[in-house]
Amino acid sequence: MRNTSYIEISRSALASNFKYIRSRLEAKTRLSHVVKGNAYGHGIDVYVPLAHELGADHFSVFDAHEAHEVLKVLGKKVDILIMGMIADEQLEWVIENDIEFFVFDWIRLEKASQIARKMKKPALIHLELETGMNRTGFEKESWPQIANFLKQNTDAICFKGLCTHYAGAESISNHLRVKAQIKRFKKGRNMFKDMGFTPEIIHSACSAAFLRFPKTHFDLVRVGILQYGFWPNMETFISTEGLQGEGADPLQRAISWKSRVMNVKTVPKGEYVSYGTSYLATQELKVATVPVGYSHGFGRNLSNAGRAIVRGTRVAVIGVVNMNVMILDVSHLDNVEIGDEVVLIGNQGEQQISVSSFSEYSDQMNYELLTRLPHNIPRYVKD
Ligand SMILES: *Cc1c(COP(=O)(O)O)cnc(C)c1O
Repeated sequence: MRNTSYIEISRSALASNFKYIRSRLEAKTRLSHVVKGNAYGHGIDVYVPLAHELGADHFSVFDAHEAHEVLKVLGKKVDILIMGMIADEQLEWVIENDIEFFVFDWIRLEKASQIARKMKKPALIHLELETGMNRTGFEKESWPQIANFLKQNTDAICFKGLCTHYAGAESISNHLRVKAQIKRFKKGRNMFKDMGFTPEIIHSACSAAFLRFPKTHFDLVRVGILQYGFWPNMETFISTEGLQGEGADPLQRAISWKSRVMNVKTVPKGEYVSYGTSYLATQELKVATVPVGYSHGFGRNLSNAGRAIVRGTRVAVIGVVNMNVMILDVSHLDNVEIGDEVVLIGNQGEQQISVSSFSEYSDQMNYELLTRLPHNIPRYVKD
């Protein structure tokens, strides 16, 4: 049954973004495609096979459930890395399926080694070092102890990777903090090296670090937002392309979100539109109702603020956004009919609604807005 709105993912936009990212990587550095948050709202089940078709062979996810989703669509053709949550009872499944995972505390390390020994199959771990974000990661004081543990458990633990994560590499205001993190990470790598460990994959960079600190690339980069065609923030764009490059945007947004006009009517001058009294018709209006509301991810914070495109023209959301519908002011359009395409994110004709403009109206970042797009909106690939 047709849904009230749908999401299109552009193959050509993705191909172009992947090419751009790879052009900034040395040939020896692998690219891991971060697909947590339902592939930043693009939909794991549609996005992951498409990315794989375009050459992606490494995916990073947040939890075991997402790893399961990736495995379901691609099988064991690619590497899968869990960066966050694994419940104890999921560890066996993770090890069984050769899924690699971050380890950032003793409990998981010991559990993994016990389970792996029982299974006679080594757990493929990436040791996460605390370097200054203070979220997850082993503290510096514990590193020698960890190294000893790994030495004693080589039958059960395969020390595959060494990693960390930066606390806000997208902002110049965090420059010193990130620099200090890089330094600490290198110290950690050297310490493990001195103890006789040379894990195959050293990695630390997210999109912003990848762009701003090429030194952080090491063997693999974990790129999320950038592959979908979004900059982590405006500052990363300016510092990457505005100052060093040509100033044009080399990325292409891959996502569009579309619906159709459900109803058109005239509102007499002096009447209010939608619930309450937040929008007064100061003249006669023509309004179009669209079957997308806050339950579909079009936030109430876009009441009297959001924009959409109908018949190639930008129009405004008026009144409060309802659970299932929003109301657009289409008074200045000659001809609007039921069934007309409505673009909520993306292009139509000359006009564009970007996710970031969307967030300017509502204070949500690209990241949040994308990942809040509900799972049940159907996603399609277009060329
Ligand atoms: C989310 C995340 C990334 C990717 O971040 P982007 O800014 O989207 O590139 C990389 N590493 C870790 C540990 C993450 O949690």
